[in-house]
Amino acid sequence: MTQRLYYADAYCITFSAHVVQRLTYADKPAVVLDRTCFYPTGGGQPCDRGWLYPLPNLSPVVEVVDVIASEDDGNVLHLLSEALPADDVEGRVDWARRFDHMQQHTGQHILSQAFLRAADAETVSFHLGTESVTIDLNGPHLSPAQVEQAEALANEVVFGNQPVRARFVSAGELATLPLRRQPQVNGAIRVVAIGDFDVTPCGGTHVAHTGEVGLIKVIGLDKRGEETRIEFRCGRRALADYGHKNQMVNQVAAMLSTGHGELDRAVQRLQAEARQLRHELRAAQERLMAYEAAELWTDAETVGGLTIVRHVFSQRDPAHLRQLATHLIAHPKTVALLGLAGPKSQLVFARSEDVTADMVVALKAACRVLGTESGGGRPHFAQGGGPAATETQIAGALERAQQAINNTDER
Ligand SMILES: [Zn+2]
Repeated sequence: MTQRLYYADAYCITFSAHVVQRLTYADKPAVVLDRTCFYPTGGGQPCDRGWLYPLPNLSPVVEVVDVIASEDDGNVLHLLSEALPADDVEGRVDWARRFDHMQQHTGQHILSQAFLRAADAETVSFHLGTESVTIDLNGPHLSPAQVEQAEALANEVVFGNQPVRARFVSAGELATLPLRRQPQVNGAIRVVAIGDFDVTPCGGTHVAHTGEVGLIKVIGLDKRGEETRIEFRCGRRALADYGHKNQMVNQVAAMLSTGHGELDRAVQRLQAEARQLRHELRAAQERLMAYEAAELWTDAETVGGLTIVRHVFSQRDPAHLRQLATHLIAHPKTVALLGLAGPKSQLVFARSEDVTADMVVALKAACRVLGTESGGGRPHFAQGGGPAATETQIAGALERAQQAINNTDER
């Protein structure tokens, strides 16, 4: 069984070791060492990464890309970028990644205990990703005040710089400890104690004093059925998150020419302005459309007592065509044959109540010209179209529609 050096000292990142087994795992060369500082993925914490240097020449260096704990024999498997050319190695763990995991994981223990005390909410799972860090709490009803209280308590523990100690304990001693949760593994149990604030079974890597966590900031809350997911950041991740958000806030404040304290009111003002403008624009469009309809109707040709408004548009909202048609057929003895050219053609045919011609029949005739059958409606109002069509093609379709209407002998 691989001796796991990180159990005793999370700050030790260099070690020498002997290869005891070579194998291929997930298409990659892998080795088992007699001892290692590399933490294998487990308990919500991702694995360490780093390098193995062949002894005695320390070259060529081989990258450790993944670390897995074998369920069967307790060995730690190091997956490598390429085959290792020696049986004796010096190992080096990527410290930035390791320390980040130590900050997030210790922060998680503190925050989990804080939620237990502030909201009586137990942590049911922990996930530490490349970007996101979350815990799931058993309880869907956390109030913002409880979250604030838990966060404040957690940060007091950070500022108190309490010692963090990890050690293996006997079954007898384990029974006497005020554990936050029961161990999920058999055999020797390792507990992590954060001052007298929290004691939990855990195999992860932790900082030595809570002050090293730096800061614990809850940044999101998501109700998921019977549980609540808390998203948070610790240490450098919290600083990076603060930096990013500060930059965003300053940028938006500059765009709105206001201070960051007045951002909410500035945005509310903008929203109210936009609402007012949308309202005014709609009213103006309505008035404009009435004028446009009147002009179209005046310019239209009259055939046997029937005013036929035939017009091809381009770059219009199809809804405008429908509104125009409604305006037009408010006139007596009127037929509106409106078409929209472009990548999505549109035909809108309508007639006033005192006309008998069937717009569905006219539409079918026009659609045949465009090579589509998609369209329909009722005798007084029909619409269709779909395929791309030029202004000339639409004009042809409208002409065909008018012929169909003339053939019904409206006179
Ligand atoms: Zn843990």
